[in-house]
Order: sequence, then structure tokens, then C-alpha cells
Amino acid sequence: MGNFRKNWLAGCLGLSLLLSSCAAAPAPPETPTPPEAGTEATAQATEETTPEPTPEPSPAPEPDAILAALGQTDIFAFISPELYARSEGQRWYEPVLAKSEETLQLPASYAAWLQAAADNVSQLGLAQVDLQAEAPSWPTLAAIISNYYGDPENMRTALIKAGGLTCEVSSSADGGYTATITSNPPDAPTLMYDLPETETTNPFSLLASYAYLSTVFDENMNSREGVGTPELGPLLFPIVQPARYYVGDCWALPRDGGARLHTGIDINAPEGTDLLAVTDGVILNNGFDSVAGNFVVLQAADGTQYHYYHLVEPSDLTPGTVVSTGDVVGHVGSTGNSRANHLHLTIITADGHYINPYTYMLKAQQDTVAAG
Ligand SMILES: [Zn+2]
Repeated sequence: MGNFRKNWLAGCLGLSLLLSSCAAAPAPPETPTPPEAGTEATAQATEETTPEPTPEPSPAPEPDAILAALGQTDIFAFISPELYARSEGQRWYEPVLAKSEETLQLPASYAAWLQAAADNVSQLGLAQVDLQAEAPSWPTLAAIISNYYGDPENMRTALIKAGGLTCEVSSSADGGYTATITSNPPDAPTLMYDLPETETTNPFSLLASYAYLSTVFDENMNSREGVGTPELGPLLFPIVQPARYYVGDCWALPRDGGARLHTGIDINAPEGTDLLAVTDGVILNNGFDSVAGNFVVLQAADGTQYHYYHLVEPSDLTPGTVVSTGDVVGHVGSTGNSRANHLHLTIITADGHYINPYTYMLKAQQDTVAAG
């Protein structure tokens, strides 16, 4: 059986060689065809007929050059930078939600771009291009397209980075080179903190958009209540003298006239009251946002982010500062979209979802009061 198959294959090869030599009759003098996949016959033939020096093997293409070449295939031919065009005063999520069908198509459009880009790259003298592709999720792509609206150059850079593309070059059996391009999209919090920062777009706004879309919608963009309540380590209450404060559950209450849901809880407290680190961690971000006001973000070792909003003044803790549970991270205020002095506390999981801080903060309050 095996021999039969081999012979049959050999017959076919012979036939095709014959056909090609007939067809090649009027062709101009040819450079020797590259050897077919390492057959002994070819190897011998070259040994016997090598009075002329064998040509230097061409150098392997650089993986970085291949990755850069992927970007030459215009991603905007597949994804419109104007997808979320918005009028003055429209909020970022309005066009995203209004165009839900196009939004859900984004990963497929991304995959189509990547396939076309890989096809074009094979012209770089590569014998083969293997593409192992996974497209970024629709909330990732929607957050990028929405945040970089009006800034196509940074949008393009961000979209390409979202793929988490890597490239390996290896020699193939026929003496050419094979490029293996892998698309392995990073977790949103890692990605967003690695994207270009502009006057209007920053890791904070990008991650907030991603977290919102990926929390209040499932993968098919159907509304959902949230993603549950994962186990978090013991937490300290975020305000000094915890017994003084009322903790209510105002998670997911309507905001912006019902167009958006509240993604944290609010605790009223006088201006200037000390805000404390709920756990050990590192300051990830410290800035100002038109909605959050002065904000500071503490990241725990497990990747969970604790966001403190509306601080009266910017926190004096710079990103990278290591803090211990109970350290002062800022002071209560009413900056940003706020009508009264209060702490808005948001929790974002390591994979970029909002979770309801209510039960965690209620327990933290009880534990902290009991500990005296
Ligand atoms: Zn709030």
C-alpha cells in the first residue's frame, strides 16, 4: 500500500515535470529552480554539477521587520476609523451601543486584516507564513476605536498592538524560511497601560471603556448584571474611623439619564478626610478625569485594581510607589462629576471587569470596626 502510494505519487511528479518542461519551451533562460523539498536526487544533482560556487544563502528575515511589514496592510481597509463617529456632546458609548452589529463583527474584521497582512508578508522572500491567530475581543477593539476617535494614527498603532503579535523565523526543509506569526491578545489591563497616551486618551479611560463594555454585556452584547464576586483577600475600610460612615449598595444604578450604569459605590464623607490603602500594593495611576475628578489607582499583588475618585486634590503618590495597607493615598473631595464630598470606590479585576464593591466594603467595615 505504502509503495503503491509512493509510486503513484512519483508517477504524478514525473508527469508534472514532463508537462512543465513542454510548457517551458518558449520561456527565457531560467535560473536554476530552487530544490524541491530535500530529495536525494536533487542533492546529488547539485553535487555533481557544481563547478560554479553555490549562491550564498539569503539571510533570514528579521522577525521585527516581518511584524513591521504586517502593518503595511491597511487595517482601516477592514475596520473603519469612523465607526464610532460622534457628534458634539455624545458620550463615547452611545455610538458603540447604537452600532452593536458592527461592534460584534470587529473580531472577524480584525482576523481578516491579519490574514491579508500575513498573505502580503509572504512576498518578503519567505517560503511560508504560518498564522496562528486569535483576534482581540470586541470590547477591546471597541474601547480602542472609541477612545482614539479622531486620531487615526494612534488608533492604528493601538489596534495592531491589541493583537499581541509575535513572529518567529525558522529554516524550512527546502532552504527557505518560514515565519510563524502568532496573535495572542494580552489582557486588557496590560494592553491599555501599553498604548499611546494622548491629550484625550490614556490608560485610565481606555481601561474604563473596556471594563464597562466587558462587564455590563456578555460576549454577544446582551445585557447582564455583572461578572459575580470573586474571592479577594481581607480588605481594610478605605476611610479612617469606619464606624462613622454609611455603606449602601449603589452599584449599577442608572447614570447619565439611564444611558450608563454606576460602576462602583459612593460613601459620603467630609472634605479632606483621609483615604486609606485597602490592601498592600503599588500605585498604578494618579491623574484627573472629567468624570472621576482627581483619582488614584492602587493595584494589589493579585492584579486587582482599587480606584479612589473625586479626591479634593491630586494624590501625592506617584505611579510605582509601594504602599502598605492603611497608608494614606489621598483625601475626600468632590472633583469631577460629583455634587457632594464623597469617595467613589471602584474595583477592577485582574482581567479587566468591574465588580460590585458593596459586599467587600461592608465586610471591610465590619472587620475593621471589630479589630478596633
Ligand atoms: Zn460614584
